[in-house]
Amino acid sequence: MADSSHGNKVAVRTFGAVLDANPDALLAVTADGTITVANAAAARLFGLPQEGLAGRNYRTLLAAGFKDEVDQLFRQLMASPGEFPPPREISGLNSDGTEFSAEVAGSLLPTEGPQEAMHGSVPPQSTGGQTRQYDGVPAGTRMLLSVRGTSHRQAADADLREAMSLLTATLESTADGILVMSTDGHVAGFNDQFLTMWNIPPELLEGDSEDPVMRLIIAQVADPVAFIARLTEVEDDPAAESHDVLEFKDGRTFERYSRPQRVGDNIVGRVWSFRDVTPRRKAQEQAHQAMLDLAAQAEKLRAMAFQDPLTGLANRAVFNDGLAEALQEPRLKAVDVLLLDLDDFKEVNDILGHQAGDDMLIEVARRLRGCVPTADVVARLGGDEFVVLLTACPDADEIAACIVRCLHVPVTINGTVLRPSLSLGLASLGQDSVGPSELLRQADIAMYAAKAAGKNRFLRFHPDMMTALVKRTDMESGLQQAVANGEITVDYQPIVSHRMGQVVMFEALARWDRGGERVPPSVFIPLAERTGLISEIGSEVMAAGMVQLAGWLSEDPSRSLAVNVSGVQLQERDFADTVLRLAEAAGVAPFQLVLEVTESVFFDADCSLIKQLSTLREAGARVALDDFGTGYSSLGRLQDLPVDTVKIDKTFVSMVRTGNEMLPILSSMINMAQSLGLAVIAEGIETAAQADYLTALDCDSLQGYLFSLPEPGERLDHALHHAEEALNALKAR
Ligand code: C2E
Ligand code: CA
Ligand code: CA
Repeated sequence: MADSSHGNKVAVRTFGAVLDANPDALLAVTADGTITVANAAAARLFGLPQEGLAGRNYRTLLAAGFKDEVDQLFRQLMASPGEFPPPREISGLNSDGTEFSAEVAGSLLPTEGPQEAMHGSVPPQSTGGQTRQYDGVPAGTRMLLSVRGTSHRQAADADLREAMSLLTATLESTADGILVMSTDGHVAGFNDQFLTMWNIPPELLEGDSEDPVMRLIIAQVADPVAFIARLTEVEDDPAAESHDVLEFKDGRTFERYSRPQRVGDNIVGRVWSFRDVTPRRKAQEQAHQAMLDLAAQAEKLRAMAFQDPLTGLANRAVFNDGLAEALQEPRLKAVDVLLLDLDDFKEVNDILGHQAGDDMLIEVARRLRGCVPTADVVARLGGDEFVVLLTACPDADEIAACIVRCLHVPVTINGTVLRPSLSLGLASLGQDSVGPSELLRQADIAMYAAKAAGKNRFLRFHPDMMTALVKRTDMESGLQQAVANGEITVDYQPIVSHRMGQVVMFEALARWDRGGERVPPSVFIPLAERTGLISEIGSEVMAAGMVQLAGWLSEDPSRSLAVNVSGVQLQERDFADTVLRLAEAAGVAPFQLVLEVTESVFFDADCSLIKQLSTLREAGARVALDDFGTGYSSLGRLQDLPVDTVKIDKTFVSMVRTGNEMLPILSSMINMAQSLGLAVIAEGIETAAQADYLTALDCDSLQGYLFSLPEPGERLDHALHHAEEALNALKAR
């Protein structure tokens, strides 16, 4: 059954439910401000029961300062019906006294329609002073207000602002330069650091075009082409992330990161961030260089610790370790130490200079290594001393012989042909075990023995050599006393002129009779030179010779006395004076004196030494170059030396055997000397063939056993007689 009032009630309730379902507060208000309808959301928003709202003036729901806002909205709606002004920001008042922010929108309600629908609705009524009629708003006009609390949105806004300020602060405080470009290619943002890093004046970014900035940027990068190519590549792929390194013309290095700027799923631009890594890169480079330096230094130190820098051979430390290790190895039956020392190396250094000396050592090291490829250690101990360690070698003597042989091969150094020669001492692990230092000492003793035995050879250590060593020390102390004890005597050997057929000179030669035993000059003269005793011995010989021969010399001014003078003596400042004083005392004219010196005295000759010789030559004495041809010097040097005579060494004379051989060395030595106006004496003439040969070469004088052995003073007549007989025999040939 149909009932129209019932149908109306259903429509009103349905409408009320629609209003209550709305999340925004809905209030129907009359022109005087009375609320006629309020929904459930309104009750929630204002903290009042729904029924309590109806009949209230809505102004009581607004915070001070906002009470007119709705009136204005009302008027706006009345003034231009059909238009919907944007929501107004207001501040609402909750029943608990708190204020909240809200926005309010409104629309006019049709004048006819359901006036009360909900249980909270009341008929319009006058509320006295509480309500008032709006100006220009006809009574009966009603408005529906929709109020939406915006506190949550404001909280979000505050969060956003905070986040923004945080972001800005971060951007400005970061050391990275940041640039944000929008997808359409415009600058969307940047920080100060970006401008500083790229030296971009801020006003440049204010213009419409990005081109000047781009030009400025490109002008700074070291490789603009690659820079632009990379930029295009990244731009072509908006979603790409990139990370690369930029080198600047001014030496700076930037790291560049780039990633898309997204809003939700959309890419709206691109963020570029630049980091100046120049200090880091420089520090890295420095660290790298420091590491390299350190490694090189360590390598050098390591090499220095084990290697002889000149020859590249091992050094003493390596040898010592190797030897100690070898001696500890019980299975090793053979351990051999070969110690070698170059002969007369000092002369090479002195005559040809230190560079030549170094070259010679390098060459010796090279040959040595070649001789003993299987050696455990080949080391240079220092100076011209080398050592070879052999273990398990079947024939060390053969190796030692081979070393002596191989090293004696001529070598050209600095344009001069030299024949390195060495003395080698060999010591081996025997039945009784010895320590490393003892083995090396034995090799050392054997090496000295090899030197004493005439150099250019090797000798294996023998216990008797120890005795020889003891003897050597003993001899030194004996020589100290020799002059004082009257043990030094002089022998005289005649020197003859073949042309004149007579003895023209005697050479005084020192002799040492030690307790009835004669010590050879080849042993005590070097010892005397080393100890400085040669000065005393030399003047003893000179004085004795002058006294002994004064009579013979006075008979004929063409006769002379030759004495040997060592370099040590010439170092003395008063040497010339002493000689002249002795001559005067003995009544010998200085021009009858010949001073025999070896070439070695002129190495490193100082002006004092030259002055001594000059003084003597000015006084009439002559200087003879003894042992000519045996030194390392060349014939060419002869003209520079302050000498009057050369004595050709007996090694050259001994080359004459039959007398029929061709010996250009002898003839050129003699020619050379004579062309320089020097007299030539040949030493060591033992055979008539040698005498003839040298006479044929126009040698001025001859000396040797053929004419006479060196004889003591009391046998001078005997020596003279023997020499003259030998001369006659030669003539008779
Ligand atoms: P030197 O000056 O070359 O003396 C010549 C050496 O040759 C002497 O040896 C002499 O005995 C030896 N001799 C002479 N004729 C012959 C021969 O036909 N055949 C051979 N094989 N040898 C011959 P000595 O007397 O043994 O002297 C050796 C060296 O000692 C001398 O060589 C000289 O360098 C040095 N010496 C000797 N006396 C003195 C001295 O008073 N002072 C200095 N500083 N050195 C001296
Ligand atoms: Ca001599
Ligand atoms: Ca000589």
